[in-house]
Amino acid sequence: MNSEAAMPRRRTRQLRVGAVAVGGDAPISVQSMTNTDTRDVAATLAQINDLAAAGCEIVRCAVPDEAAAQALAAIRAGSPLPLIADIHFDYRLALHALAAGVDGLRLNPGNIGARWKVEEVVRACSERQVPIRIGVNGGSLEKELLERYGHPTPEAMVESALGHIRVLEDLGFEAIKVSLKASDIRRTVEAYRLLARQVDYPLHIGITEAGTTWSGTIKSAVGLGVLLYEGIGDTLRVSLTGDPVEEVRVGWEILKSLGLRERGPLFVSCPTCGRCQVDLIAVAEEVERRLHDLPQTLTVAVMGCVVNGPGEAREADVGLAGGKGQALLFRKGEIVRKVAENEMVEALIAEVHALVEEKGRR
Ligand code: SF4
Repeated sequence: MNSEAAMPRRRTRQLRVGAVAVGGDAPISVQSMTNTDTRDVAATLAQINDLAAAGCEIVRCAVPDEAAAQALAAIRAGSPLPLIADIHFDYRLALHALAAGVDGLRLNPGNIGARWKVEEVVRACSERQVPIRIGVNGGSLEKELLERYGHPTPEAMVESALGHIRVLEDLGFEAIKVSLKASDIRRTVEAYRLLARQVDYPLHIGITEAGTTWSGTIKSAVGLGVLLYEGIGDTLRVSLTGDPVEEVRVGWEILKSLGLRERGPLFVSCPTCGRCQVDLIAVAEEVERRLHDLPQTLTVAVMGCVVNGPGEAREADVGLAGGKGQALLFRKGEIVRKVAENEMVEALIAEVHALVEEKGRR
């Protein structure tokens, strides 16, 4: 990690979701949620595999009914990722999910009714060492809190979370993660800040119902960026109305942009201006598309001219700085050669692969 980007991380307890540690000094993990019909095991597993390939580390499936709960055993058996069952209200679905071998539950204990039901679920979680995420959502706060606070304010959301936490703590259960999601960024950030001062449980962060891939990416980057910069957040999910694979890509870009995780290339490219004399936008897009799934971490710069270009390109592992119908190709600060405009993409990609190969041999 880049030392100048180091930001103190809030100290939290650590728990495990299957093989993935969450909290403490564990890396901030990237989660997503399937949007297939959970009862369709083949489709759900296909999506989980796509998510895993994109870098997803924990996956959640909705469990709306008995048939979905029954499907979890086969999904768990075929999933390369730890599996979390998302349960609302029905404790029997939670018990089925646990029997199916899930690695985590998302469930609000205050919403499942009689204490004996909560006790049964908590006992089953304890036996299997399965954590519970309390997921407070601004859109579904308890009626009593809404009446008292008037709106789903940060304080109301935190009070809701503390109420659910207390239910579990009273039963001696502390393998808890908490999320406090609202679709409004300022409310979400404030709620997490408030809760972070009061408990040391790991926090799952996200902006819920953030929107489509375009607007949701921006909202998530802003909201999660503020929290992460303040050291808040142990695992994250970006919520997008779209392909969940995009959620994973966006989640990784947010973490990479803050220097909190490394995965694949970090792209640097200039916005272009009147000084640019090559078709840089097309070059940058093509380079990003072609190197998108490269697992190795390295910085790739595509710059339009000699004003800022050589500086950035030199700092990068591999870079291009455009000139008039041509570009300079850099590698680790050294000029490799001049390339013609129509060779820019191929030359850069060949240099990236050569560097990766050499690193692999060392
Ligand atoms: Fe303009 Fe050159 Fe800066 Fe790109 S690097 S924005 S072309 S001055």
